[in-house]
Amino acid sequence: MRSNGQCVMCGQDKKITAHGLCTACYHRQRRRKGTDRVKGAKAAGLVLQVDFQPMSGLFEDLKQRADAELRDVSSQVLWELSKNFERRA
Ligand SMILES: [Zn+2]
Repeated sequence: MRSNGQCVMCGQDKKITAHGLCTACYHRQRRRKGTDRVKGAKAAGLVLQVDFQPMSGLFEDLKQRADAELRDVSSQVLWELSKNFERRA
């Protein structure tokens, strides 16, 4: 049975399909995955490449949390950021 929760992508309280994503975001991400590997993908401008070298410990922490919460690291970064912005709003 699917359960409700906060989507890690759009942040809305919805039925979670997989990977912490609501149905709409899950399918959006699935569609995008194929094009992400192609250079000059339509998503360009929404994709941020981050160099974690100055804070490699932070990357390890993110990876551990992502594993524990069954997300990929990118989704974990979005999740952590959205939580942080929520707290400050
Ligand atoms: Zn969503």
